[in-house]
Amino acid sequence: MTSHFPIAIIGGGLGGLTLARVLHVNGINAAVFEAEPSAEARTQGGMLDIHEDSGQIAVRAAGLYDEFRELIHAGGQAIRIVDSQGVVHFSEQDDGSGGRPEVDRGQLRDLLLRSLPDSTVQWGRKVTGVRALGDGRHEVAFVDGAVITTDLLVGADGAWSRVRPLLSPAVPEYTGISFVETDLLDAGTRHPACAAMVGEGFFISVGDHKGFLAHRESDGSLHTYTALKVDENWLDGIDFADPAAAKQVVLAQFEGWHGTLRALVADADGAIVPRRIHALPVGHRWDRVPGVTLLGDAAHLMSPFAGEGANLAMLDGAELGLAIVNHPADKALDVYEQELFPRSETSAAASAASLSMMFGDDGLCGLLDQFGADTL
Ligand SMILES: Cc1cc2nc3c(=O)[nH]c(=O)nc-3n(C[C@H](O)[C@H](O)[C@H](O)COP(=O)(O)OP(=O)(O)OC[C@H]3O[C@@H](n4cnc5c(N)ncnc54)[C@H](O)[C@@H]3O)c2cc1C
Repeated sequence: MTSHFPIAIIGGGLGGLTLARVLHVNGINAAVFEAEPSAEARTQGGMLDIHEDSGQIAVRAAGLYDEFRELIHAGGQAIRIVDSQGVVHFSEQDDGSGGRPEVDRGQLRDLLLRSLPDSTVQWGRKVTGVRALGDGRHEVAFVDGAVITTDLLVGADGAWSRVRPLLSPAVPEYTGISFVETDLLDAGTRHPACAAMVGEGFFISVGDHKGFLAHRESDGSLHTYTALKVDENWLDGIDFADPAAAKQVVLAQFEGWHGTLRALVADADGAIVPRRIHALPVGHRWDRVPGVTLLGDAAHLMSPFAGEGANLAMLDGAELGLAIVNHPADKALDVYEQELFPRSETSAAASAASLSMMFGDDGLCGLLDQFGADTL
């Protein structure tokens, strides 16, 4: 027999979980169908700065603000910008008064998961297909052959959303930037020069259409995104199963850069992870379709260069939740989408502009200018 769920959220990332939580605190049950087999299946990684005007609004709507404050990584709002020779051109300490505190993404996701009844998230439920049944209802098919129906289908299933085709033919496109991610564990003790260079928070070194973006993580490690403006297939030529060889290929792009910057890759511990950066078109939107909507990356995947994606996913989740609480079903989606489209267009445009500036001909000057620092 096909099970029916009044509200089915596809994807248990930060956006989908925030929606489920906001509905839960307002007495509405929803089911979250998540492809990963369990909460522990994948390390979530990475620090996120949670903005006062987006992510924090969502955290408050979820009734989790006090618990969120306990997750804040003290010192994490520090920012340092250096050139390719390691010379510092901008540095700001975290005095605790900024509006963008840093938290560990995995800890934030755990907080949301713990705040939901155990049965809310159904793990290992990878969606393979969706179809409209008419009158606003939808059918969702899973990889194991199971099928459910729902009155309200929410695609919170990220960049490669299976729900999006119900609303829009858009697919993410490669932005021209590829990342190689590395970690230096226990950096203060084992990699003191890198730790001293990066500082306590966020660190950027850009120039010549490439650069290093690093964070001090709450466990004392340094996580680095080495960013390169390269063809979409450039990463395919690297054997990531052989970290030493992969490091050499990446470092060949940084000849002449300061040794401590190169050490972010050269001395990395563990796996080296490739990642292509994709985005949906700026201003992506769709005509209203009864009974289905999108949130987060499924709706407005953008490059990470404005630091907005996770914040917006959570705000979308909170706003959709409140719209469902306060309005009848189809009016709720109207209300939600009317705010969603202009908000995400503004952020997507900012992310795209930031990418062009950082990896353009004079990325360092552009970045310093953006931070109000003296340019070179
Ligand atoms: C390198 C990098 C750095 C970033 N840094 C920042 C930052 O500093 N600040 C910031 O705000 N944002 C940042 N972002 C963006 C941020 O990670 C995303 O915008 C955010 O995770 C989107 O949340 P989401 O819930 O929409 O999607 P996701 O986090 O992608 O969650 C989607 C969920 O859906 C599940 N799923 C996918 N397909 C299916 C399926 N078929 N069936 C069932 N479940 C499925 C996935 O397993 C996943 O759990 C960064 C992104 C990248 C790539």
